[in-house]
Amino acid sequence: MPVESVFPRLEALLPHVQKPIQYVGGELNSTVKEWDTTDVRWALMYPDAYEVGLPNQGVMILYEVLNEREGVLAERTYSVWPDLEALMREHKVPQFTVDAHRPVRAFDVFGLSFSTELGYTNMLTALDLAGIPLAAADRTEDDPVVLAGGHAAFNPEPIADFIDAAVIGDGEQAVLEITDVIRAWKTEGRPGGRDELLLRLARTGGVYVPRFYDVEYLPDGRIARVVPNRSGVPWRVSKHTVMDLDEWPYPKQPLVPLAETVHERMSVEIFRGCTRGCRFCQAGMITRPVRERSITGIGEMVEAGLKATGFEEVGLLSLSSADHTEIADVAKGLADRYEDDKIGLSLPSTRVDAFNIDLANELTRNGRRSGLTFAPEGGSERIRKVINKMVSEEDLIRTVATAYGNGWRQVKLYFMCGLPTETDEDVLQIADMAKRVIQKGREVTGQNDIRCTVSIGGFVPKPHTPFQWSPQLGVEETDARLEKLRDAIRGDKKYGRNIGFRYHDGKPGIIEGLLSRGDRRVGAVIRAVYEDGGRFDGWREHFSYDRWMRACEAALPAFDVDLAWFTTRERTIEEVLPWDHLDSGLDKDWLWDDWQDALDETEVEDCRWTPCFDCGVCPQMDTAIQIGPTGKKLLPLTVVNAGASAGS
Ligand code: SF4
Repeated sequence: MPVESVFPRLEALLPHVQKPIQYVGGELNSTVKEWDTTDVRWALMYPDAYEVGLPNQGVMILYEVLNEREGVLAERTYSVWPDLEALMREHKVPQFTVDAHRPVRAFDVFGLSFSTELGYTNMLTALDLAGIPLAAADRTEDDPVVLAGGHAAFNPEPIADFIDAAVIGDGEQAVLEITDVIRAWKTEGRPGGRDELLLRLARTGGVYVPRFYDVEYLPDGRIARVVPNRSGVPWRVSKHTVMDLDEWPYPKQPLVPLAETVHERMSVEIFRGCTRGCRFCQAGMITRPVRERSITGIGEMVEAGLKATGFEEVGLLSLSSADHTEIADVAKGLADRYEDDKIGLSLPSTRVDAFNIDLANELTRNGRRSGLTFAPEGGSERIRKVINKMVSEEDLIRTVATAYGNGWRQVKLYFMCGLPTETDEDVLQIADMAKRVIQKGREVTGQNDIRCTVSIGGFVPKPHTPFQWSPQLGVEETDARLEKLRDAIRGDKKYGRNIGFRYHDGKPGIIEGLLSRGDRRVGAVIRAVYEDGGRFDGWREHFSYDRWMRACEAALPAFDVDLAWFTTRERTIEEVLPWDHLDSGLDKDWLWDDWQDALDETEVEDCRWTPCFDCGVCPQMDTAIQIGPTGKKLLPLTVVNAGASAGS
């Protein structure tokens, strides 16, 4: 049976909301399939506004991977702003997809990709608008399987009550495997109903179904154990790893947004994973090992993507893009090839020690020379040893001197406050570093108009990292430390005016901390915040600390725990962590040893260039580091004239 579009009803509401264009769909490279020609249907959501959600690579990739499959349909949905939400509730318009404006509840799977835990309340809004019961236990066969993915899904316990399943790791192959399981179950006439479908998914070993695990607690509030309550359900659920990125050159046809979005460029992921070993970095830990896309694969994706979109900028994405073994050839090759078309290139994340000026010059050759951004993360040499970010101040100063000497005038530096073992002194050294940067810039250029912007945010300990046991710094302490730094910068007569200072107070960070390391009991808090009007918690103007505090005070005493218990409390080696049954491949003993090394200020090398240090991932996941150089060319020359002899 075809599913009716809600567009006629939605259209009547659009003149009354801000930026209505974000809800109409029809973007270049979007796909609409006939409902009845398909048998497995996915609604994919990035639980934030269109302007943030549309450029999300994860959703864009899965959308295309699924739609390329015969018999499978995938459409996108984003969070609606509160103005439209109110009208949708009043006029009974359900959560819809932007592609064909079909109601989300009609799909087989409602898949959400969480980059941040602060999107959880937006999931509840979408579920409620869709007419899907918030509690997974209340859903019937008419409801889709609500499936979480993305980095935040590596600890899905705080949302265990609201999701039916979670997948950790790379999604490309996982969504196809899930599709096959659903198709088989539907073809067989849906035996055993929803429960049987979820059981079949859980038994694959790569899909976590929270309802099939019981959590037992100790009298002091800690978890005693997490036990499967069905036979055939694995004790630990494995992450998915795509091993050959060249086999997955997605997105091939990137979506071109209709309305303004946070990134107006096409992106090519040049490698996945990072083994630099920064101890605070969850993304680096959970995406191991490093897997590079080949230089030829990158060239083909850029060529095809530019043709398909008309974008004028290409972002070369990864966790630390300058670390690609052939980055110099990639940058030069692309700059040469697209010189006449004035296509800009960008590396959204670059390490100080991987930066070199030839690379920077190639990136800016076709016109754009914006500011340079580096993330030393820690202000003092000592704290950088603790976090294993081996960037010396000398490296940084040498790098910025070269940059200023080559025409750059702006440097942005990112830091974190509240890192384990940190003192005021560590943070105050950030001011000294910024002053030295400006001093050097003036010296190199002979000019005074040198600017350095310091941007600093609160550190949030994350699951599956060596800092998962660390206490988080409290809100007051974080704010007091940041104020001291602000005063030190502003009070400097010689350099203060040239240093920009951006900081976020500690309040959103502590809530992110609660959601990151929380367990199933935190679900009651999320629900209370949602019911109290919580939406778009990742947006400063919508986030309400008071609302979260009210919800914590209302929901947590029943369990004899509180916000501090989840955030500022240090964990011990014996403690069962809420995510221990989700297997990122990292060996827990190795993580603990790395935590001890952090406390001893001992650094660990990168296993790309030194022998394996046994983090556990490769043997556990049957994977291996995959890097070049391949020695291949960016784009082999292809012969256009079919009659001529072959060449390359
Ligand atoms: S197992 Fe060894 S080679 Fe693989 S990511 Fe860990 S340290 Fe590196």
